[in-house]
Amino acid sequence: MLLATGAALAAVPVVAGDVSVLLRHADSIKLSDPGEFQQILDRLDSDSAALAPDQVDYLRYLQAWRAAYHGDYQTSDTMVDELLERSNSDTVLFRAKVLKVNTLAERSRYEEAFQLESQLLAQLPEITDPDARGQALVIAAYLYEEAGQYDLAFEYADQVFKESTGPYSCKAEHARLAALYKSGRLEGIDEQFRKGVEICTEAKDPVYGNGIRFYMASLALQRGHADEAIRLLEGNYATVTRSNYQMLISEFDALLAEAYMNTGQLTQAKRFALQVIEQSMRNEYAESLSIAYRVLYLIEKHQGHLDKALAYHEQYMLANKGYLSAVNARALAYQTVQQQLAAKKLQIDTLSKQNEILRLEQSLDRKATETSRLYIILLATVLAFIAFWTYRIKRSQLRFMRLARRDGLTDIFNRQHFVSEAEQQLQYCRKSGREACLVLIDLDHFKAVNDTYGHAVGDRVLKRAVAACQAHLRSTDILGRLGGEEFGIVLPECTLDQVLDRAERIRLAIVEVVRGDAVDDICVSASFGVASTTRSGHELRQLLIHADDALYQAKREGRNRVSVSDGRAKPRLNAVGAATEEVQ
Ligand code: GH3
Ligand code: MG
Ligand code: MG
Repeated sequence: MLLATGAALAAVPVVAGDVSVLLRHADSIKLSDPGEFQQILDRLDSDSAALAPDQVDYLRYLQAWRAAYHGDYQTSDTMVDELLERSNSDTVLFRAKVLKVNTLAERSRYEEAFQLESQLLAQLPEITDPDARGQALVIAAYLYEEAGQYDLAFEYADQVFKESTGPYSCKAEHARLAALYKSGRLEGIDEQFRKGVEICTEAKDPVYGNGIRFYMASLALQRGHADEAIRLLEGNYATVTRSNYQMLISEFDALLAEAYMNTGQLTQAKRFALQVIEQSMRNEYAESLSIAYRVLYLIEKHQGHLDKALAYHEQYMLANKGYLSAVNARALAYQTVQQQLAAKKLQIDTLSKQNEILRLEQSLDRKATETSRLYIILLATVLAFIAFWTYRIKRSQLRFMRLARRDGLTDIFNRQHFVSEAEQQLQYCRKSGREACLVLIDLDHFKAVNDTYGHAVGDRVLKRAVAACQAHLRSTDILGRLGGEEFGIVLPECTLDQVLDRAERIRLAIVEVVRGDAVDDICVSASFGVASTTRSGHELRQLLIHADDALYQAKREGRNRVSVSDGRAKPRLNAVGAATEEVQ
């Protein structure tokens, strides 16, 4: 039994002129009052020009349902296909598809039915209309029950119970009980049958209530209680015929035929069996037909009509084979569709995995870019850091180099650097054939300055003396501190006269500069010894000796004066009068 599409809503009062209410009312009574249902449809159909498009769609859906109910699947299909083409109502579209699953299954087109049903189930989460949901779930329960997938049938039936009461729970209960009965799970089934009938009575659904009674009668017959089966079937027979639902009528007839046969009431049995055959044109593979032929064959055989018995037996074999192949076809169709769905799912899974890999690759690319960017930043930072440190190191190197070259107190060249610079300059002058002079300066009685005014004043005097020298020197002249209060100056490209003149000015400047010091009575002078390359040559060592001689001479002659070397080394007398030669 498959026609589970009845949306038997609680009876809605008919409001004249309100087409929508009328349609819903028709929908709700289509199983319980087929007469009125038919009348409403006819009335609305004759006036369909006045209906809104969605009302026309609803009407067409109900007409398609009615056609299917009466077994006119061709008409039902055409109407459903039209609706699927043009309707804008999601609910009508969904219900039309449910109806089509029904009619496909009724004609044993199970593969198409399962395919469409799986589409509906996939769509189900978006469907909110309780009727549409109930129908789809009930149909699923029936389809799986008929395909022998009982656990799935229980699952969908349970889903119906969770979501709704009333008409859908009656139908779901019918599907569930059918699955229980067919799967042989008979423990406590009588009580469950009883409850099922109650649910359907409450839901005012005689068709499905009687569907449950059919299974009750089948079980009674199976247990050998033919009388009980007859009582049950006959007791509800009038309601079943009133429902006009042919499949159920045939099922009742077939079971009655068998029950009457089992109780020996062969005339009755024959009558019901022939009734089944009469009505069987539309469903030649139904189980009822197989039962009916079997009953007829057994009766004819029992009555000794062997020819007739043989003919019925042949029909019975055919019908039974047809019925069994229909059962197999359902199971096979289910498996086929499951395979197709599994293949499709696998395909989708593969695609989504590929997408995932692509996404991962993209994010890896992004990560790689981010990482390279980080590396670049890190590298740039390291480079900046290295550059900074290089600069600092260079700066300190320069500072150390300067410190290494300069005298700490006066900031002029120290002895080593003076010597190296002076040698270079003299070398240059020698090569270019130019004259140069060396002047040695020694402060007079400087020890006495220290002793009289202290070391600090002595330092200040040294600095002032240097400043006095610098004031009279050119940028090319090389000034250095050779020792305590002794200084040397190399003046390149200078004649002796020019140097003497400059030395004289420096001498006066030193006297002058020191006199300006805060200590009033301080009196500092310096003695100068001058040697020129014209007389002494371009060797620094020689120039130093000659200039030192001249300086010594200046000291001897009374200090605070400039003395010139004549280019000859002079022997000096030390404290004990021994001659010495000062060497650099
Ligand atoms: P003379 O006229 O013969 O050159 O006599 P003098 O006292 O200048 O000669 P002497 O060589 O005996 O003394 C040099 C003094 O210079 C000794 C030392 O105290 C002083 N002196 C050397 N270096 C420094 C220095 O850096 N600072 C100060 N304040 N004094 C220094
Ligand atoms: Mg000295
Ligand atoms: Mg001195």
